[in-house]
Amino acid sequence: MATTETRMPAVQECTVSGCSYNQDDGCHTFAITVYGANGVADCGTFVPLSRKGGLPKVLAQVGACSRADCIHNSDLECTASGVRIAPGEGDHAANCLTYSPR
Ligand code: SF4
Repeated sequence: MATTETRMPAVQECTVSGCSYNQDDGCHTFAITVYGANGVADCGTFVPLSRKGGLPKVLAQVGACSRADCIHNSDLECTASGVRIAPGEGDHAANCLTYSPR
């Protein structure tokens, strides 16, 4: 029987230091969700609490993404080899920099 390998894209870097899951420019939750509209892709897992959380030895992956207009998106999953997240402007606290409109 053939097996199908499923690999989620790594969050290679996240510079959103104000997020509870961020330590040393790395995201330490198990998986993030990306969403957004109007030309930006926001990280929906951003948590601005005063305490840090996550798992120190875990580097996050992209679990789901609803930016269907991104060239890396297939069936609402991210197919990029990895993504980078950085602070956004205004209400957009954390943006996927790897987002690229079709
Ligand atoms: S690269 Fe595109 S498909 Fe992947 S998480 Fe970012 S916005 Fe979503």
